[in-house]
Amino acid sequence: MHNNRDKAPSDDRRNFLRLATASAGALLLSGALPNAIAHAAAPTPLTVVNPEQALARLMEGNKRYAAHVTKRRDLMVERVALVDSQHPFAAVLACADSRIAPEYVFDTGLGELFSVRVAGNFVTDEGLASLEYAIAVLGTPLILVLGHDSCGAVAAGVKAVKDNATFPGKIQGLADALKPSVSKVLQAPGTLLDNAIAQNVRDTVARLNSESQLLADAIGAGKLTIVGGIYRLHSGAVELIA
Ligand SMILES: [Zn+2]
Repeated sequence: MHNNRDKAPSDDRRNFLRLATASAGALLLSGALPNAIAHAAAPTPLTVVNPEQALARLMEGNKRYAAHVTKRRDLMVERVALVDSQHPFAAVLACADSRIAPEYVFDTGLGELFSVRVAGNFVTDEGLASLEYAIAVLGTPLILVLGHDSCGAVAAGVKAVKDNATFPGKIQGLADALKPSVSKVLQAPGTLLDNAIAQNVRDTVARLNSESQLLADAIGAGKLTIVGGIYRLHSGAVELIA
């Protein structure tokens, strides 16, 4: 006996979806679907990847940025496609400096980078909580701590250590937070500011690795890697140092 009731309901659903997909494809080919709708309906490219893939993707984006061959983007299409969810493939803890815009630096679109920014790119409770959210809730597999050349916040930390300089308002607290990294490299060869910028990145990576059970669990499960880099103001290139 052959009738529709013998078929599992899911067969009908699959057939319907196949038909619907084919129809959308035909409409797209015929130009009947507006471009924006067709793009928005396409599968999002922001699929969650493993830590190694995320790092490769991040650095490829930086190569494009440094070489001035960035992708063309339709931000309206990206905006529409992201209304209901986000799956950023990397989190960046970067300085607030106006010359560093992580989304530009890594040639990423909306929904791809989870950015936490504070002058001096060091660990605060709220910044750590934000990163924990990205890893635990959004499934982000990579954290990059991003320092940069000529960082004014680290320069304040250097002045605080070397000259006992004081700063107005809450800026003093920011300078104080950077002093331990500065103190570690006071005797190191080379430029104190450059060394302090690099040391601050290394210290921040170390703190993220050790001060959060949530991040430690993700690392232990192979779901997270934390790296550190320096953004070069002149070339736009990011050098990984930790
Ligand atoms: Zn800075």
